[in-house]
This record gives sequence, structure tokens and C-alpha cells, in this order.
Amino acid sequence: MFRLILHGGAGTWRKDDERVKGALEAIEEALEKGLEILDGGGSAGEAVVKSIEIMEDSGYFNAGSGSALNIEGVREMDAAYGDSRGNIGAVASVRYPKNPVALARYVAIETDHLLLAGEGADSIAARIDLEKIGDPSKNIVFRYNELIEGYKGLKRFPRNIKVANYLYGDTVGAIALDKNRELAVAVSTGGIWLKLPGRVGDTPIFGGGFYISRDYAVCATGIGEVIMRGLISYRAYLEYEETGDVYRSLMVAIDHAGKIMPESTGLIALDINGSLAYRFNTKHMMVAYYDGNRKVSILDSNI
Ligand code: ASP
Repeated sequence: MFRLILHGGAGTWRKDDERVKGALEAIEEALEKGLEILDGGGSAGEAVVKSIEIMEDSGYFNAGSGSALNIEGVREMDAAYGDSRGNIGAVASVRYPKNPVALARYVAIETDHLLLAGEGADSIAARIDLEKIGDPSKNIVFRYNELIEGYKGLKRFPRNIKVANYLYGDTVGAIALDKNRELAVAVSTGGIWLKLPGRVGDTPIFGGGFYISRDYAVCATGIGEVIMRGLISYRAYLEYEETGDVYRSLMVAIDHAGKIMPESTGLIALDINGSLAYRFNTKHMMVAYYDGNRKVSILDSNI
């Protein structure tokens, strides 16, 4: 038995947007490639990293090459990796690697640490010969200029959380179960558009943006400041531990997030028995999964 569930972010998409088509194609490819690895007897860890790398490279998501830019027009990316063998690692505010998820997996497996940040993390990426990311695409720079235009003339920048509805989204996450009954989770993001330099979101925070135990894994997308406040991934895990019910774990955790701020959060989860689920309180969430019977990839909607 093997399973894979991916998300392409909770937030608001314009359905007629050309980008939706491209993003759906990219998430489908990520699902296919991840499933090939799992079907061939590869590990859940390999599968989630491959799937995330495809989405990071596609430019359609807010991760890797497609990352949102901070207020200074610079990419600062967060990513994390965890597996049910107890390897956990994350990176925050990195500017160097094309695939921050690969660096997060390196931290998890090859170092004694759980979280590396900023220049130090970037220097490790260079030292282990990870590929360097290129300049942001024209579309990303165009979007940055558009957004920053709206800020001109303001005495102070509006707080991210107040304008978050259109500034976050399209982050990526993946959870896999392999034939050896091992689970792995990986997440990657450029964070929130126009964030302050040095801002770190929920994505690399264990218990916030992701959580994994021997028999359950979960990861989050949405407004990092809400997800961290509510330790939303850990909240989901506690419910799972109590009830063994994957769907219920997400229902309870999303409910909790909604009390902190409505329209803020999306989650995916998978357990060792192959049960998977997703849930979100934002307008949209893009997901793709293989549940043992069928492969699905959709831009799901709450409206
Ligand atoms: N959770 C991410 C962050 O706050 C953003 C997202 O999910 O789109 O950094």
C-alpha cells in the first residue's frame, strides 16, 4: 500500500486565471512523479521531496522559483521535512537554494539540528553544492511592482495580517506513505508577499506548519501568524492521537484556526493506515492525492 497527498496552497485563486491551469498541470505532474517513486518501492521521504521540487521549479506556486518577494523585493524562503523515523529538519529565510526542501531534508538527515536560518543556512546550501536559485521571473517582478505601488504614500506599511487575504497562498506541501509503512512530510513557501525582511512563517515550525509522529503526518498552509499562534498542526495531531480519526483531526484543527481568524488556514493529513484528508476555511485550496483507488487533482472551493 502507498499513498500521496499534495497541496498547492489555501487562499484565493481567480478561477479564470491562466495560472490555475498551469498550477493544476504542475501539481498533477508532482503527483505522478511522487507516485512513480512510491510504486517502485522508493521511500516516502524521496517521494515528498521530489513532488515538492517539481512544484518549487514550476514557478506556479509560492515556493522555490515562484516565491513571493518581501518588502525589499527579495525572496526569503522557508521549508521543512519530517519522516516517521524521527528525522525532522527545517530552514527559514533562505535566499540561496533553488530547492529549499532539499536543504530542509539535509538538515533533518545529516545534521544534529532542527532549524537553520538565514545566511548560515545559505552557506550550508552552497557548501553541499545545492543548485543556486535564479532571478525572479518577469511575472513575479511585475506582481511585486503592482503591490508595492499600492503602498506608496502610506505613512506606514499595513500589517500583513490585515491585508493577508491577497498576500498569501499557493504554498506547497506533501505527505506520503510508502510500502514499508513509513510516512514523510515536506513543505515549502516564499511566505507572505511584502513581508518584512526576516519574517518567518509557520512552514518551518514543528507543530505549527507541520507535524509528524510514528503513525500520522499533517501540514498547513495559510496565514502563518495564525497557524503559529494556534500550533495548528500539533492541535490536529492531538485530536488524531485521541480519536485515530484523520478527518476529525483536521476538522477540529481548522475550527480552532477559524476562531483565531476566519479564512486563514488549510491542512492536509495522512496516517499509517492510508487514511487521508484535507480541509480549509479559505475560499480555495488546491489539492492532489492518490487514495488507493483514484487520483484526484482539483482547485477546491468553499464558495
Ligand atoms: N503559510 C505560509 C506563510 O505564512 C503562506 C502560505 O501558506 O501561503 O508563510
